[in-house]
Amino acid sequence: MIFHVLTIFPEFFRGPFEHGVVARGEKSGLLQIQIRNLRDWTSDFHKTVDDRPFGGGEGMVLKPQPVFAAVESIFPRRDPRKQRVVLLSAQGPLFNQRTARRLMEFEELLLICGRYEGVDERVSQHLADEEISIGDYVLSGGELAAAVVVDTVARLIPGVLGNPDSSVQESFSDSGEEGPGDGILDCPHYTRPAVFRGWSVPEVLLGGNHAEIRKWRRQAALEKTTRLRPELLAPRASAPVQALPDPNGVKKG
Ligand code: SAM
Repeated sequence: MIFHVLTIFPEFFRGPFEHGVVARGEKSGLLQIQIRNLRDWTSDFHKTVDDRPFGGGEGMVLKPQPVFAAVESIFPRRDPRKQRVVLLSAQGPLFNQRTARRLMEFEELLLICGRYEGVDERVSQHLADEEISIGDYVLSGGELAAAVVVDTVARLIPGVLGNPDSSVQESFSDSGEEGPGDGILDCPHYTRPAVFRGWSVPEVLLGGNHAEIRKWRRQAALEKTTRLRPELLAPRASAPVQALPDPNGVKKG
């Protein structure tokens, strides 16, 4: 899969994609990340990408001309089944794991990063296939949002994660059935030491009984989802959730 990121701050991406899963995926040829400088598609001496808003008001707006020119030169014969153009925007529908799975089906993804007051609305109306927001808050630019989208989609590409089960049995993974991957939160994880500052790991995880461990993990995932994200359970008619005993005998509020 190829990710193109259109930005006025290409150097922003020196860090985020040079580590971990995304970097490994790129090294092994499963994905490519092309950072594109929007200024390369300007036609004036100063490489101007922004201008004042019509109607007055604060701030500057990214001009449509370089954005259209960039997208049309990156995808000269755009194939809507294989290529997707996404405008990062605080106003788009919220990004989630389902969106990531849908985007993973495309061969190429082009992410447009806005800045200042945003991008001329004609980009949303006539160029982008969709707008995506990573949350109901306003960032100063689309770069952080693009990094979130690339990271989330990249780890779903078959082969990118060392252990393919990792993306099946994690929070929000959705198999459409009840059980692992039914869209709820992941179970809690613990590692050594078994007792840290007096807090013990649940006994069942130390015993090696895999059927019991599976049962505990399922129950713990349901309990945590009920406590932190009850809305994830709302649409399904799931088994009643029992509170798990706290290994340290401390009651949760
Ligand atoms: N005036 C805009 C508004 O109120 O909706 C905010 C513009 S914001 C300062 C500049 C750019 O940051 C946006 O064009 C967009 O690309 C990006 N951005 C800000 N918040 C975002 C979010 N929650 N998700 C995705 N992109 C975001």
